[in-house]
Amino acid sequence: MAFSVPQERKLVTELPGPNSLALQERRVRSVSRGAGTLANIYMDHASGAILVDVDGNQLIDLGCGIGVTTVGHAHPDVAAAVAEQVARLTHTLFTVTPYENYVRVAERLAQITPGDFEKHSILVNSGAEAVENAVKIARRYTGRRAIVTLDHAFHGRTNLTMAMTYRPWPEREGMGPFPGEIYSVPLSYPFRDGLTGEEAAARTIDYIRTHIGAREVAAFFAEPILGDGGVIVPADGFLTAMKDFCAENGIVFVADEIQAGIARTGRWYASEHFGLVPDLVTTAKGLAGGLPLAAVTGRAEIMDAVQPGGIGGTFGGNPVSTAAALAVLEAIERDGLLAEAQRVERELRARIGDWADRFPVVGEVRGKGAMFGVELVQPGTTRPNPHALQAVLAHATRSGVVPLDAGSWDSVLRIMPSVVISEDLVDDAAGVLEEALATL
Ligand SMILES: *Cc1c(COP(=O)(O)O)cnc(C)c1O
Repeated sequence: MAFSVPQERKLVTELPGPNSLALQERRVRSVSRGAGTLANIYMDHASGAILVDVDGNQLIDLGCGIGVTTVGHAHPDVAAAVAEQVARLTHTLFTVTPYENYVRVAERLAQITPGDFEKHSILVNSGAEAVENAVKIARRYTGRRAIVTLDHAFHGRTNLTMAMTYRPWPEREGMGPFPGEIYSVPLSYPFRDGLTGEEAAARTIDYIRTHIGAREVAAFFAEPILGDGGVIVPADGFLTAMKDFCAENGIVFVADEIQAGIARTGRWYASEHFGLVPDLVTTAKGLAGGLPLAAVTGRAEIMDAVQPGGIGGTFGGNPVSTAAALAVLEAIERDGLLAEAQRVERELRARIGDWADRFPVVGEVRGKGAMFGVELVQPGTTRPNPHALQAVLAHATRSGVVPLDAGSWDSVLRIMPSVVISEDLVDDAAGVLEEALATL
């Protein structure tokens, strides 16, 4: 891939620079404080794994706007597809007069989504909207109401998905009332529970049986690798045991792959790492390279349980976003980006895999592909260390490296670069993070 910006970190001012500071002054007078930011460094353009701010500083992007620009910023094919489409046809509304891009995205999703059965899709605008639609579809199909989610889950910020999101602060506090019939159940969190996948599943199933009742449940939602919850990788066997339980009890298994799906973990879907074949899958973040697009894809008989007009929306699957998605899916296949994500995993493991041995505040380094979490703890314990995370983030962003935070205790450093990031950039960024860890 050709990059329009040299793939290197370069600072020409302090961070944030003067132009960022000026924008920040305007921003606090016009933008809601509720849209909080990780770093007040304003961006001008980007290419590959490098962000260029309004002062001309080049920063290493370890977050991809939360796992969105997986194929790299300003991917030339995505940019060309968007430019061509926006001049040709930008909107008709698929449910008034349809167009081919929508059908092609649904065809492509049916090909790449796990499962050897007929699959249908609905396209919408955002991850939360996809989750909401999966809830509607599962309830319509099963005629049941209860929705089960995992502890530490993140499913979005709409009223329904807030209720499905685990932590109260800052996502939910003061914003109820929330809808009922949402139940959070224990997950598999090997660093904290020490259980095998089978043991964790037995605990979860017992919880569902004794607190909710298996025959009451419409859908079981799981992020195969939890993202905002702290890049939690469940123990092998947990997800497939839960899938078996769902199949035996007529429960729709929904894999929320909004963050971990579409090449992020070195497979099309994180489910594949665990041999999991979900009934429904939600996708969004990495799907269209930065354009708003999300999908629910799954078993045709479940997806078609909804009456015509029962799901949809004005902008869902618009021609431009779907053009971008087709370019993204094509680039992943043609450029071997699943293998690139696996390369990033090898480079990250080689570079940061021993941090738990080297730094007392690091409890665990975990992840797959280009999706890693570093859980920070009070030395010698498993108690969360949010202060350490704040210190690492402050040092990183001052130094031109932009990672993410995560975790219900705000104590997990999340590293999710584009899969086109070079080994030199991985090395440079890891060095900056190490400087911070060494001072703690
Ligand atoms: C980001 C995210 C969502 C919500 O997506 P939005 O596009 O922000 O509405 C839902 N589920 C998971 C797993 C996510 O990471």
